[in-house]
Amino acid sequence: MSRANCLFCRIADRTQSADIVAEADRLIAFKDIRPQAPTHLLIVPTEHIPSIADVTDTHTVLLGQAIHLANRLARQYQLVPGGYRVVVNCGAGAGQTIWHLHWHLLGGRTMAWPPG
Ligand code: 5GP
Ligand code: ZN
Repeated sequence: MSRANCLFCRIADRTQSADIVAEADRLIAFKDIRPQAPTHLLIVPTEHIPSIADVTDTHTVLLGQAIHLANRLARQYQLVPGGYRVVVNCGAGAGQTIWHLHWHLLGGRTMAWPPG
């Protein structure tokens, strides 16, 4: 897939607008357009990786950086100590709709378990 055909590549390349809240070396974070909680951010690698099933050894550091960024944003958005959820949907059956790896950071309300 070319970057022009991928929504999250276009957001990372700034050819598609989004409410960007953080930028890191290989990551970007922006507000979800259909928030499912008072805080709902997406943490997205600038590299096109279709899903978490496609990560390789070359992505080990990137995965750690994504979690560090999620934690930093959780503190910034006052989701600590209340609690927050970091979610990756992998595959259509799990609810993945955008085929570019992303972490959802959700918080600001009570969460139920198990998820729907
Ligand atoms: P998934 O269903 O793949 O786990 O998550 C995709 C997320 O992307 C959804 O929560 C959806 O609301 C969000 N989304 C879809 N299109 C756009 C868009 O154009 N801009 C932003 N900011 N989020 C989007
Ligand atoms: Zn992409």
